[in-house]
Parts: sequence; structure tokens; C-alpha cells
Amino acid sequence: MNLSELRALLEQHGLQLTKSLGQNFLHDGNQLRRIVALAEVHPGDKILEVGPGLGALTSHLLAAGCEVLAIEKDTRLAAVLRERCQGKPLTIELGDAVRVLRERPPDWAGWKLVANLPYSVASPILVDLALAPTPPERMVVTVQLEVARRLAASPDTADYGLLSLLVQARFRPGEWFRIPEQSFYPPPRVVSACLRLDRRSKPVVAEAVLPVYRKLVKCAFSQRRKKMIKLLRNLWPLPVLEAFYAREALREDIRAEKVTLDQFARLAEHLAATERETDA
Ligand code: SAM
Repeated sequence: MNLSELRALLEQHGLQLTKSLGQNFLHDGNQLRRIVALAEVHPGDKILEVGPGLGALTSHLLAAGCEVLAIEKDTRLAAVLRERCQGKPLTIELGDAVRVLRERPPDWAGWKLVANLPYSVASPILVDLALAPTPPERMVVTVQLEVARRLAASPDTADYGLLSLLVQARFRPGEWFRIPEQSFYPPPRVVSACLRLDRRSKPVVAEAVLPVYRKLVKCAFSQRRKKMIKLLRNLWPLPVLEAFYAREALREDIRAEKVTLDQFARLAEHLAATERETDA
């Protein structure tokens, strides 16, 4: 769908765009093809798309032979999309994607998320899917550039934090590219980027340890300029933390931004094991 087709469709249906729903539609065929190529989809693939809008990306996914489950909050757009894609393997669920996803069985094994996400809910959606008991195989998402940077960030950078650690516990960030503002209608005020995340063959954090891991990274980054041990000792006994620091040869004054994903995973294991012993 190019820009004039998109405008014609909006006019034909008398649709006014809703800013609060982040309705910036991608109309640049080259960018849409790049997204689908990055997702490496194959005929018969099961694709979850959040926020299909008028179906610019959806139609490329359907043309590639995929089955699409799309979640859209705007009933007007969903009605147009349903009419345009009649007879195609597209299921549309109406509602807020965060809520819809939390209510569905969290089994996304064999699925890929390919979406130009509504920016206001991109992070909770990605965290929920990444930490689901069976996460999708791959997530190829268009998000705000700063969110893409946080998703892909390495330790000791300004972007490294809670979002990086929650998603990277299960997914490996890969290739990404910027999408120019002019590729959208209307052009957004923020810079956008498409990023690929592949599910790790072996999760860095075991399912049973996830609750402690989440609590740990949230606490560690609650004040990123503060020494991590000072924050963590509010939730865990100091000797337990000191034992870990000594074992890993961590400096007492280390801040969370210098601690690697593997170190956080091992610290979560250590804390979870201690909690189990205390409960026994
Ligand atoms: N995928 C389309 C495209 O690339 O042109 C539209 C993307 S637009 C950035 C975001 C879409 O998400 C809009 O269609 C908007 O109505 C929808 N949306 C916004 N918030 C949502 C939510 N919480 N749950 C589901 N859809 C939402």
C-alpha cells in the first residue's frame, strides 16, 4: 500500500487518525519488504502481529504465505482490514494487545512476532512475550530507535538496563536498521528502527528463577548511579550478597550497569537457592 492508496483508503472510510494510539502507518514498500526479509518468514509460518492498522505489513506477510493473528485496538481499522483481507488466513482479535496477550494461553512456541508496534506499549509487550513460559521463536519489531538501542544494549553503556536484561534473558538481539520518518504517514516525531531478536536455544535464566531475576534487575537499576550492593541489601541479606561478590570477584562498589547478563543470571540463581534453603 503506497501513500496515495493509504490516503485514499482513509478518505473512503472517513477515518481520522488517533494520535494516542500511535497511528503512524508504514507506506514505504522498500521498508516493508526489508522487515519481512529480516523476519525470514516462510509459507505456513504462524505470525503474531500487534497493531496491524490498515494492513500494510499484514498484506506482505499474507503474500509470503504466512498465517497471521493480528491484535488491533481500533475497531474502525480492524473493520477495514477484515474487509480488505477476506478469504485470507488472517484472524483479528480486537482489544488492547497487552491485555489480550495476558489473557491468552502463553504458548508462543512455533510463532514469530512481526510488528510495527504501537510505541506506547512496545516494552510491556516485548517483556511479556520474552518471559512467557514458551516465547516466540523470533521477534522482528519496529520500535522507537531508543527502545531498539535499549533492547540490544551491552553492559557499560547508557542504554543498558532493565529492558535489555529482561528481553536478553531469552532473546539474542541481532540485525537492525533505521526507518526514515518519511516512510510513515503521518511521519512520527520520533526516530524508528526495526530490530530482530532470536530466541536463545538455551535460556540464560531458568524458568524457576525468573521471578527472582526480575526482582533483582528491577532493584539493581532502581537507582543506576548507586552502588548495586546498597540497593540489593534492602531485599536480600548482606552476607548472602557478599558471598556472591567474593565468589565472582565483583568490586564492592560495582554499579548495575557494569554487571553482565550472565552475572545477573548467576546472582539470581544464588539468591533463589538461598531463598529455597530459608523456606525449607
Ligand atoms: N502495522 C501498521 C503499519 O505498519 O502501518 C500500523 C502500525 S501503527 C504504528 C500502530 C497500530 O497499533 C495502530 O493501528 C493502532 O491503532 C494500534 N494500537 C495502538 N495501541 C494498541 C494496543 N494497545 N493494542 C493493540 N493495538 C494498538
